[in-house]
Amino acid sequence: MENLNKEKIVIYGAGRIGQIACAVLKELCSNFDDKILGYAVTHINNNPNEIEEIEVHDLDYYVDLGVDIKYLIAVREKFKNPIIEELKNRNISNYEIFEYSKYIKLLEDLWKTQSEERFMIFKSNKDEENLSDEEYLMFLSRQLKKGFLNFEINLADHCNLNCQCCSHFSPIAEKHFVDCVQLERDLKRLYELVDGKIGKVLLIGGEPLLHPDICNVLRIARKCLPESKLDLMSNGLLIPKMNEEFWQALNDLNIGLMVTKYPINFDYDACEKLALEKGIVISYGALPEPVKTTSHLTIKDENEFNPYQMYMKCDHANECVVLREGRMYTCPFAANIHQYNKYYNKHIPSQDSVSIDIYGVDNWGAVEEYLKRPNKMCGHCDRYNMKYNIPWAVSKRNVKEWTM
Ligand code: SF4
Ligand code: SF4
Repeated sequence: MENLNKEKIVIYGAGRIGQIACAVLKELCSNFDDKILGYAVTHINNNPNEIEEIEVHDLDYYVDLGVDIKYLIAVREKFKNPIIEELKNRNISNYEIFEYSKYIKLLEDLWKTQSEERFMIFKSNKDEENLSDEEYLMFLSRQLKKGFLNFEINLADHCNLNCQCCSHFSPIAEKHFVDCVQLERDLKRLYELVDGKIGKVLLIGGEPLLHPDICNVLRIARKCLPESKLDLMSNGLLIPKMNEEFWQALNDLNIGLMVTKYPINFDYDACEKLALEKGIVISYGALPEPVKTTSHLTIKDENEFNPYQMYMKCDHANECVVLREGRMYTCPFAANIHQYNKYYNKHIPSQDSVSIDIYGVDNWGAVEEYLKRPNKMCGHCDRYNMKYNIPWAVSKRNVKEWTM
């Protein structure tokens, strides 16, 4: 960090760790505004154009500037090597890895100044043995989150693909679409609460393209959130059937189309070509290859776990925030668990008991405080035994997909 004070800096990575690196630089560099050029990302289509007034661009942009830049690689362990390779391929050797573990104390101090009470309660519940430095840092970054709000909205709860272990419970969800009147009201209310500081919004599902009035939904979203990055996130299956009005709406409203590819017999290339003909470049999340695996969260009927420990370990907590029917949820599991309860006759805390009413608060601070703490479902989530890399398969609607 001392060396970085002498150069222009680009932070490679605009995710949680990139933003933490930015917070650390702000603390340590006296002339931060002069030093920092922006964030670099690999997939520019998946990221907002700026994060808290710091620009986000792809690497080409910075290379084309033709100035001396030090790249600070600030990403999760698994993404480091591909980025180093990319820099080497462009003969860029002026880079450093952001060694986040060195700055945990500094970040804790920042956190403590924000809310000593919350800091103390989490610290007293911290399970050193079962929380890695990287997980703790990700948690800290979500605690330190302030400024621009990112969130997601289900346009349809159900889905036309039905993947096993779906975190939105779409295979077992009742048919349900977002109501346009409620959506407009909620977005206006949120906009007012956060003073327009809404960064990125995912219009998601289930499968959002199932919504019978999708163009109207898109128009409402753009009208209420004129400056936000809006992305429609789909499994793509309905793309060949979308009409001209849909393509026109995406173009006119500057709404992105993100597709997750699955290992199924479906011609994604033809979709990409069709979208291009309509003026839309499809983006594919972090990886352009089909998703071949899924992860599995065990949900217990009883409140068995320390909710603070589960929350600290959880990569959904205050990361994939959900707006649903006038309420904010910390994660999609909590926002959709009522579907699971109904299908399997379970009684996990849901709906009003795991969310906060955006009409029942005076200011955004109250919502933010709620999202930064465990909700009543957290004690049911066995985050210590998450299973990853389960081969992707269609759901058999067996309760074991969410319990074993
Ligand atoms: S495509 Fe699969 S993971 Fe996505 S909402 Fe549908 S069922 Fe869930
Ligand atoms: S309910 Fe809590 S622990 Fe469970 S997924 Fe959501 S935030 Fe994580």
